[in-house]
Order: sequence, then C-alpha cells, then structure tokens
Amino acid sequence: MSAFDPAVFSSNSSFDFDHLTIGGVSATELVAEFGTPLFVVDEADFLARAAAWKNALETAFGDRAGTVYYAAKAFISKEIARWVNRAGIGLDVCTGGELAVAQAVEFSPTRIEMHGNNKSEAEITLAIEFGVNSIVVDSFNEIERVGRIAEQLGKRQRVLIRVTPGVEAHTHEFISTAHEDVKFGFSLASGAAWAAILEISQCASLELVGLHSHIGSQIFNSEGFAAAARKLIGLLSRYRNYFSRELPELDLGGGYGIAYVPGEVTLDPHKVLKELAAVVQDECTTAKLAIPKISIEPGRAIVGPTTTTLYTVGTTKEVELDGGLTRRYIAVDGGMSDNIRPALYGAEYLAIIANRLPLGPNCNSRIVGKHCESGDILIREIQLSESTQAGDLIAIPATGAYGRSMASNYNHLPRPAVVAVIDGKARLIVRRESIADLLALEL
Ligand SMILES: *Cc1c(COP(=O)(O)O)cnc(C)c1O
Repeated sequence: MSAFDPAVFSSNSSFDFDHLTIGGVSATELVAEFGTPLFVVDEADFLARAAAWKNALETAFGDRAGTVYYAAKAFISKEIARWVNRAGIGLDVCTGGELAVAQAVEFSPTRIEMHGNNKSEAEITLAIEFGVNSIVVDSFNEIERVGRIAEQLGKRQRVLIRVTPGVEAHTHEFISTAHEDVKFGFSLASGAAWAAILEISQCASLELVGLHSHIGSQIFNSEGFAAAARKLIGLLSRYRNYFSRELPELDLGGGYGIAYVPGEVTLDPHKVLKELAAVVQDECTTAKLAIPKISIEPGRAIVGPTTTTLYTVGTTKEVELDGGLTRRYIAVDGGMSDNIRPALYGAEYLAIIANRLPLGPNCNSRIVGKHCESGDILIREIQLSESTQAGDLIAIPATGAYGRSMASNYNHLPRPAVVAVIDGKARLIVRRESIADLLALEL
C-alpha cells in the first residue's frame, strides 16, 4: 500500500490534505525551485538523530562513553560535516576524499577516526599530518605502512585494530562484514588479530589504544552487536593477561537498522545501547577488566531517515503478466544512478504521490528509472494509485544513506542536487551536477 507513513518519512514531514510537506516546504515548491530528481534533507531531523545517539551513548555508558562517530560514507558534504560538528559528535572517514570534506570545514581532527581496508600512502600521510584521533588498521601491510609513515613524520599514531569476530549478522551478505570470509580486518579465530596486536606492540611509532569491530549494516536486534562485544572483550582480556595492562578503548561500529517500508521500526538508540551496555558491563566484570571507553559509528541511523528523494514521472505502461494479472511500469527521471540499493541488495522502499491526492483504486505497480538496464528498478512491487501519470511527483523516503553517496553518472546522467529544509525554508547544500561538469573531465 502506498500512503504517507510517518514511521518511514523524516520527522518533520507530513501529508497536508493533498501534498507532501517536508520541513515546512511543499514538495511542489521544492521541485519548482530545484527540479528533479532531488534529495531533500530534513535538517532538524538530522540534528535530532545525531543528538539522540550521543545522548543514548552517554546515558548507557556514563563516563565510559567514548565518541559517536558519524560514518561519512553514508552521506557527507561540507554542510553535513558542519551539522555533525554542531551536534558535537565525531566523524568516521574512509578515504582522502571524505577527509578532505572534513578539512574543508575545519572539522576538529581530534574527533576524526580513519577507516578503510586499503588506505593509500597518500591517505595515511594526509590523516597523520592532519592529526586524526585514530586510524583503524585493517591488515598487516597497513601496520607496516602506518608505522613507517608515522615514524617519517615524527609522530606516534594512535591506532585501533579492526577485528572480524566471526559473528553472522542477520542482514544481506554484501552488507554483512564480520564473518570470517570477508576482506575486512583481522580474523579473531585464525589468530590474525592476536598477531596484529603483537606486531603493533613492536612498533614504536604506533600506540595501540583499542579494538574495533563493525559487523554489518541494517541490523535490527542487539544480539549480533552483543556477540561481537563479548568476543572483543575476550581479546581485551587476553591482552591484559599478556601485557599486564589494559587497552582503553572499544569501538563497536555502526549498522543500526532503520525503517524503509511500513511495518519496519527504526532501532531506538537508547534501547539498543542500554542492552549493549549490560553485556559490556557483564563481560568486563567477569573478566575483571575496567570498562573501556565505548565508541560507535552509526551512519545510516543518523542520515538515512532524514532524506526523501523526489522524482517526476515521465512514462507509464501496462504489461500483461501470467494469470491475467497486469503490472504498471512507472518510469521516473532518475533510478539506479541515484539509488543503487534495490539493484545491489534487493533493498525495499516506499513511494507515494507527493503532489496530489492519490485518486481511484490502487494497482500493481513497479517503479523504474530511466537507465538502459532492466534491473534499473527502484521498487519492484507496490500498490500505487491507478491515476499515477506523467508529470506526477513521486516521493521515496529514507534515501539519506547510501543514495547520493553511491550515486553514479551511468548513462551520463548528472547527479541530483541535495536541498536542506528547515522551518519552512529550503536551501541548496549540494548543487545539481551539470552536463558541463561531466564534459569538463574530458580532454
Ligand atoms: C559502513 C560502516 C559504518 C556505518 O554503517 P551504518 O550501517 O551506516 O551505520 C560504520 N563503521 C564502519 C567501519 C563501516 O564500514
């Protein structure tokens, strides 16, 4: 069923009689000013979610609360980095490009953590020179590399070890990251994580401050996080037994699930962190360890629900299916270039008509993009008003994470603009790419 659902749209969205309004601005006005496809970010919602995670971490862990690092890869721009800064949380970056955005807004390096399974020498140099709080090392090559570059720069770099604890997160294979057979991190079971600890302890330019794990994304129950925490605390305990001192930090990564379609419920930060805190406390007490500073890295959970994509319908057509059924194809002016998630992971979304009341009965519909691929599908199956026609505006909510950040120029389509809305005002935060931008790359 296609109807406005407050659990899936951003907090300051509503369907006011006959149109969608976000942050006090109607979808029609937004489209008249900025065109489609358009990413519309609810600024107050972003700030509220960032604050909620910070507050929940502090409530659950008290003086053992470390940092909430917003995972930049979910979506970052200069304005988003300013909001992250304003919310008083940290930033998790994976590349020199993401780091450059932080630098461009003078984001405090002491609240930046650097990730990535194959950081280049240039990226490592940039991070150490900028003075990032920590680098999460992901491989033996990288221990040598970070150690050598830090030494050359005359610095002692704080590092964490990314551990793959062998936990099966209940999510899609491509967004599950902590079972053994993945490219990320040092496996716990094989002894690689322990070997990494020993190797770092031999390197004078590296200061090992803790362990890290990130088990996957779009996870809805705390069991996977708790299982990972137990395993990592086991390793902290082994460290203490061997070195007679304790590692002060534990970073449990991101991956907190959000609602994409009606019936799903976005994880409550207070609930999940309270459950995690109980497990951490328990395990540390049993192992006679001081509770380490606990950090987390939510990306999707902060930005995902804040954003809605607006599209214009261009064409519709009916197709006869077996058994006398029909399907209505509704083609919009974007597609897999601005939202690859349905094609990549089979992700599901809701859509509504944003510019008018949905008249008449619904029919079995499929929302597709304008790209030259049959798999260019945004919503495989949805009951949408039979009256949907060319010129209508379609709104797809919960597109803030891994939408614009994974956007491509497939078919030489310019990437959409991003507009922030708050208190009845809209302003561009990332302008729409132009054909001239695309041609400017060509020699
Ligand atoms: C992707 C990622 C995150 C964020 O994941 P979300 O599902 O967006 O919360 C956090 N930490 C690491 C290491 C990641 O790779």
